[in-house]
Amino acid sequence: MPENKTLVMKFGGTSVGSADALVKAAQIVKDARADFARVVVITSAMSGVTNLLLDSAALASQGKVDSLPSIENTLKEKHFAAADTLIKDEKLRDATRQEINDLIFSFVDLCKAIAVLGEASPRAMDAVASIGERMSVRLLGAVLESAGIKAKAIESTEFVITNAHYQNAHPDFKVTTEKTRQLLNPLMDAGIVPVTTGFIGATPEGVITTLGRGGSDYSAAIIGSVLPADDVWIWTDVDGVMTTDPRIVRDAKTLPEITYSEIAELAYYGAKVLHPKTIRPVVDAGIGLRICNTFNPSHPGTRLIANPKTNGKVHGQVVKAVTAIRNQRLVTIEGRGMLGVPGVAARAFGAVASTKTSVPLITQASSEQSICFAVPSESAESVINALQSVFASEIEDEDIDRVWMTEDVSIVTVVGVGMRHTPGVAGQIFSQLGNNKANVLAIAQGSSEVSISMVVAAADTEIAVKALHELIVK
Ligand code: ADP
Ligand code: ASP
Ligand code: MG
Repeated sequence: MPENKTLVMKFGGTSVGSADALVKAAQIVKDARADFARVVVITSAMSGVTNLLLDSAALASQGKVDSLPSIENTLKEKHFAAADTLIKDEKLRDATRQEINDLIFSFVDLCKAIAVLGEASPRAMDAVASIGERMSVRLLGAVLESAGIKAKAIESTEFVITNAHYQNAHPDFKVTTEKTRQLLNPLMDAGIVPVTTGFIGATPEGVITTLGRGGSDYSAAIIGSVLPADDVWIWTDVDGVMTTDPRIVRDAKTLPEITYSEIAELAYYGAKVLHPKTIRPVVDAGIGLRICNTFNPSHPGTRLIANPKTNGKVHGQVVKAVTAIRNQRLVTIEGRGMLGVPGVAARAFGAVASTKTSVPLITQASSEQSICFAVPSESAESVINALQSVFASEIEDEDIDRVWMTEDVSIVTVVGVGMRHTPGVAGQIFSQLGNNKANVLAIAQGSSEVSISMVVAAADTEIAVKALHELIVK
């Protein structure tokens, strides 16, 4: 008999991206039911679908709708191929196809409306993006049924209630707790596996929102924490959290354990394997988190652990992982007239905030003659404009000499709790980069000393990641 425990499992895009993957996901759910009486399944859109939907809407906003029929076909082929292979019952198969068809229809309608308006509001973009998960949840629900698992597809818009901050919505945990329990508990009590959409929620008025790109991981953490579950498992396409992105370094190794603060830094500085917002709800609720591979389910993957009380040298490792965020620009405000003038930084970041841009890294020279920070490349132009306007009079008076930005750069970050207690790590890092001819443009160290970030030219990203990865003790 399985223990009366609750497990929340989230499947990422690749894990539900084809009939083969869906077979594996269904087997994983079946196996989990042997150990957990209560299981909730959360799904992403099939791989590539969210990008396709959003790119089509962006094209539509420029009046370009010629490719819509072919996109419509691609979406149908992808979902129907899996449905036809895996849903044995004809009635269930037809009903599932019909529902997915209707959603594709509404997507085409939305794009046409966007084309007429000539613009896509964040709210409209969320309506478009949500269609990926709304299709995959129906597909996965039916596939689980066909595999003999009692399952019911339910949209998270019914119980994950958020504010109206479209494209980056924040849940109202109180209402979400009530609604989630109200809707999911009776299903689980009846031995049914609720299968729900990651990534999306709705405002109290019922308007669809999304939690930000890659946000299905966060959905799992939200739902896991409000139920509450005993464990949250994130099923993805690699063997857990690795020493770096295996797409950059082929022999990157899985980290069997990672601490809260390490994963927080890794996720924040670009390791796509886990959405940065996932960590807080599970840590606050004291729930276990595991990241594992749908295509290698017997591998234990990575477990999240509390911060160690020891000196942090887990298995003798000081540097544990390396990560990179690409497509950034460094913005610099400089001028001798800034020296000691109070409020320059506050006004600068106020101007940046007015463009709704977040700043992943800040460095300031001790002379106070310059402020330098990173912003995503796509926001750089509007940030520069905002700064030039807020400091217009200082620029005219030549207290500020210039506000300028670099070409594309990357932020490369080295993470490890052991760095805090190990002198000379920074030295090793810089010699390693120097020896490999990766030029460091700026540096920042988190106050927790769990990470050190370096800004390098875009062309040096891979060299820097590979070089720093060599510092990890094998
Ligand atoms: P999913 O669709 O399952 O959410 P993602 O593509 O969002 O999957 O995240 C998994 C990917 O994250 C991996 O395929 C890998 O390329 C990338 N990645 C980046 N950094 C790391 C890391 N340190 N460990 C593991 N994977 C990483
Ligand atoms: N499908 C969404 C995205 O691509 C959410 C996710 O996959 O986590 O951003
Ligand atoms: Mg993801």
